[in-house]
Amino acid sequence: MKIYSILSFILLIILNGCSTTQKIPKGLYYDPPGSTITTNKTITPEHKRTITINSSGVSASNEFEGARLNDFFQVNDTLYEAEIEPENAPINNSAWYSFKLWSNKTQTVWINLKYKDGSHRYYPKLSSDRINWKPIDSTNYFVEKANGAFLKLSLDKDTLWVSGQELITSANYEKWIDKILQNSFAKKKVIGYSSLGKPIEELEISEASDPADYIVLTGRLHPPEVTGAIALFSFVETITGNSETANEFRKKFKVYVIPLLNPDGVDNGNWRHNIHGVDLNRDWYYFNQPETKAVKNEMLRLKNLSGKMKFFIDFHSTQKDVFYISKKDSLNNSIPEDVRLAHERAYDITKKWFAEIGNAFPEYHINIDESLNNPNSPTSDEWIYNNFYCPALTYEMGDEDNRGEIKKLASIAATELMKLLIEK
Ligand SMILES: [Zn+2]
Repeated sequence: MKIYSILSFILLIILNGCSTTQKIPKGLYYDPPGSTITTNKTITPEHKRTITINSSGVSASNEFEGARLNDFFQVNDTLYEAEIEPENAPINNSAWYSFKLWSNKTQTVWINLKYKDGSHRYYPKLSSDRINWKPIDSTNYFVEKANGAFLKLSLDKDTLWVSGQELITSANYEKWIDKILQNSFAKKKVIGYSSLGKPIEELEISEASDPADYIVLTGRLHPPEVTGAIALFSFVETITGNSETANEFRKKFKVYVIPLLNPDGVDNGNWRHNIHGVDLNRDWYYFNQPETKAVKNEMLRLKNLSGKMKFFIDFHSTQKDVFYISKKDSLNNSIPEDVRLAHERAYDITKKWFAEIGNAFPEYHINIDESLNNPNSPTSDEWIYNNFYCPALTYEMGDEDNRGEIKKLASIAATELMKLLIEK
């Protein structure tokens, strides 16, 4: 008996040791092995240049913010190859491309988008002014699984932008932030700097006197996730709008918005990572990167204020709309009762919010995913959930969603959230 007791004691120590190591977060099930390590990695820099094919007069360039084109050459009379590579691998397949083309004479060409370490994902969008974008006509476009995508384009001396999504880069964010700052109740501050020294900016929107509870909105941890950015803009514009609900909400609550958390990744046309080759939405545990450190420090500063965080939303994009929330029973027994109850309240509020969105927008099907999250995953929503015990979710819009619908949904979601928090 004594030996058994000693053995079971040893076993207990070993098991406890194991459960401790299990707390170190792993990535999510779809992350390629190795992609979730968040210490600095080597990246392949994109060589900025304009390539002109002298024999045909066709030029291609990646010399602009947000571009991604690694090489460009002529294959035959009418076919050209555009080589697209990620910043480093392994990497989640968010194969971003963006480049501009022109020709010294009017001609029709075929462009083959060929990928290294990934495959074609984004439906091509075209623009002649970098502001207005249109999806390519489907008759001028096809995809071959092994060879990437083929685009038929009419070129002339005017610049044609070809891009996986609309370009929304640092310059666009600056303009948008300036527009929000025209409201007397909005101000901005810099919460830190990216690896390349770009400011990470935060908007504070409020007419409430201290102490006031607050919500936090973040975006663009992942560079190509433009539909998430469109949603965040509409969400914030609804809160800064002139509706009765918005006016009342701003008198009671503060709103902190960090719209662009990965400026280096966005401006360098990265597929997913920051300039150190790291997925910033897998670094909310170690906080190895300057961008995540900046947001963590700011969140801890907010935590020291007398108001409480009431809601956190991190805006992203993926193949189709999905809202990731923490499931109610995802917590283990070691969590204190008050925390568990706070989590249950957070869950109920989140579900109530979705129900209200459903009532206000019955044509929209809300897709909620409670299966992914676990208390130890190194993502923004989990870290907030487990440090602030408030509703914290990842708001993902589909890559190819109708842009008008994205704006409408975000506006309704913002209004319903404001109503819910005012009521409480
Ligand atoms: Zn994302």
